[in-house]
Amino acid sequence: MRLGFYGAAGGVTGSHTVIDLEGFRIGVDAGLFQGSEMDQNKAGFGHDPRSLNALLLTHAHVDHSGRIPQLVKEGFSGPVLSTSATLDLCEVMLKDSAHLMQEASDHASDHERRHRDWKHNRSTPPLYTEKDVVRALGQFKPLDYGKEKSVGELSVKFKDAGHILGSAIVELCLGKKKLVFSGDLGRPGSPFLRDPEKVDEADWLVLESTYGDKDHGNIADRAEKLLAIILETLEGGGNIIIPSFAIGRTQEILYELNFYAETGKLKGVKCFVDSPMAVSATEIYGRHPECFDEETLGLLRSGDDPLEFPGIQYTRSRDESKAINDLREPHIVISAGGMCTGGRVLHHLIQNIERNNCTLLFVGYQAEGTLGRRLLDGAGSIKIMDKQLDVRARIESLDAFSAHAGRGEILKWLRAFKKFPGQIFLNHGELNATHALAEAIRSEFDSVIIIPKAGQRFTLE
Ligand SMILES: [Zn+2]
Ligand SMILES: [Zn+2]
Repeated sequence: MRLGFYGAAGGVTGSHTVIDLEGFRIGVDAGLFQGSEMDQNKAGFGHDPRSLNALLLTHAHVDHSGRIPQLVKEGFSGPVLSTSATLDLCEVMLKDSAHLMQEASDHASDHERRHRDWKHNRSTPPLYTEKDVVRALGQFKPLDYGKEKSVGELSVKFKDAGHILGSAIVELCLGKKKLVFSGDLGRPGSPFLRDPEKVDEADWLVLESTYGDKDHGNIADRAEKLLAIILETLEGGGNIIIPSFAIGRTQEILYELNFYAETGKLKGVKCFVDSPMAVSATEIYGRHPECFDEETLGLLRSGDDPLEFPGIQYTRSRDESKAINDLREPHIVISAGGMCTGGRVLHHLIQNIERNNCTLLFVGYQAEGTLGRRLLDGAGSIKIMDKQLDVRARIESLDAFSAHAGRGEILKWLRAFKKFPGQIFLNHGELNATHALAEAIRSEFDSVIIIPKAGQRFTLE
């Protein structure tokens, strides 16, 4: 058996790994490269997609799922195994991804036409269209947590990764040998979701390392910190803009706001979820209670839907979105994309970033090369859609909302192994985070730690 790393190797985006058995090839995830790695999307997959027999998908985030339509367009015709919640979320995510690519392509050709800039051909055709997405979705085959399924010689099982709705850890058995992919590991104690499931044994483990160098703030305190930032901003007459991934963070923030909106401190405050995709994703959350933890099920049984409270408004149309800008009273806007690389959040930044009574609040990871990262690093001036803007708003970050396990949480998850993996491949992390995690694992466990480079292949003996 051989293992090839074609993405999220030395970076956090573009997850794509391939397991090679004699004459049978299985991919795990096929994600988009984002931020400074974006150009790699155009460069193909590093192997022939036509020879892939099946794809296993850990979860719906586009850095794991966003290239599936491209894979299909380039000849992959096998099944895509995922949980049914992941399939539902992918339908929304991938259509949106196709739509964003079309928009970016149209915008670039428009720019050329206006500036007669034929020399610098910036327009590129989209990687795929909605038609490719529909075709790819037709290849999905849902697999429930805990059920075993044969794929070629391998037996596949999903465990709950507790990262976003439907997220999975993948266990693969070949005879008596076991290969495990952690996928993106969630945090214990997150709202809605169960804690990441433990794994008993593995011979080889592919482990994410996003926060291998860092522990997050306490989940228990984060709601109060969120409330404090919101109240301070509202009192100063400003708005709070929260760039957020449509799936996961958005619903977790709503879960926390729900409590204050229902019980008093935020009574009557308007809160907009301004992203058609986040609105759809929130509906999908409502359709998959099989993924919820006991606490959330209890809340629902008591009649409190954590995604509905007085003051909340879900905005789908462009007109509804524009109307938010005319609103005089201070308010909260949760809008995608989470790293400010596109989406409606850019319009809200244009409206609010130069106002010193407003707050821009980050709640998720900001990859290198993204506008979100530049703002977080303290940029004094930024450019959005050809507009130069001075940054006067307060910039805040609450890393306790991260959907990823922090360093200590990853180590704790590793301690649950009864038979510890002899080899661990660390992927999905920027290099300093990955190296720090490698050090921490080496100092506690007896295992060979490998940090694969993109394109590198390993024989598993
Ligand atoms: Zn993820
Ligand atoms: Zn990821």
